[in-house]
Amino acid sequence: MNTTPLISVSDVAKSFAHQRGVVHALAGCSLDIASGEFVTLIGPSGCGKSTLLRIIGGLLDTDRGKVVVGQRTPRENRAQKRFGLVPQSPALMPWLSVIDNVRLLQQVNRRADSESAKSADPVALLRSVGLEPFLHSYPKQLSGGMQQRVALVRAFALGAPILLMDEPFASLDEITRSSMRYQLLDIWERSGKTVIFVTHSIAEAVMLSDRVLVFGGRPGRIIETVPITLARPRVETMEDSPEFVEHARVIRAALRRGWKQ
Ligand code: ADP
Ligand code: MG
Repeated sequence: MNTTPLISVSDVAKSFAHQRGVVHALAGCSLDIASGEFVTLIGPSGCGKSTLLRIIGGLLDTDRGKVVVGQRTPRENRAQKRFGLVPQSPALMPWLSVIDNVRLLQQVNRRADSESAKSADPVALLRSVGLEPFLHSYPKQLSGGMQQRVALVRAFALGAPILLMDEPFASLDEITRSSMRYQLLDIWERSGKTVIFVTHSIAEAVMLSDRVLVFGGRPGRIIETVPITLARPRVETMEDSPEFVEHARVIRAALRRGWKQ
């Protein structure tokens, strides 16, 4: 068995200069992620989650420590288009239809090597999240939840093997949001992609993840790793199970500890 992690973050520190001094966003931050894993980062606002995601994604350099992604630097991976990003807002092109929004990025990101051949069929993906009737609709004709589903499909349609999702459901209402997690899982389970997902929601973290990494603040670092033992595929009724409640309790206790420190 190959036990080398796909993503390895060792003792990373990152500070930012502000008018009133220096903010230590991350210090002593370490984690490993295996290929194909779904890992969630959870923690309060301002604890460095987005900073860590941007470092892994090759958008920001560390002050110290080391990040390796598939034996290369994050910036090399980024140049090879090995990351797909799903931000908080869907960021669709308003003048393009749903299907063209997905296809445009797929074409722009087309890679020369064989991995791009694995990029999925956009129509099949859109069908799997119930958007087939809206292929030729424009973003403004869709609800917020539908737009975010398009953004998810767009990320999965890329050849990129690693998806970085920074609170993609944060702007959705609670009912839409809780159904989105199952749609995401449905696409992810067939994709083989590695996902790092950021959220404030404990329920979302438990239902989605293979492992939940709990952030402590300031400076941000991982204070607890919680393996999620719920079977896959995950279904909504599991949210009432004793196993779910226990995972949620462990995460909540860790968050409380991290907040007090
Ligand atoms: P989170 O995503 O967990 O809410 P962030 O990673 O966005 O937290 O931010 C961590 C800390 O670093 C915050 O105090 C934030 O103000 C600061 N920070 C993040 N990015 C920058 C930046 N580009 N310039 C200055 N400060 C920043
Ligand atoms: Mg953030």
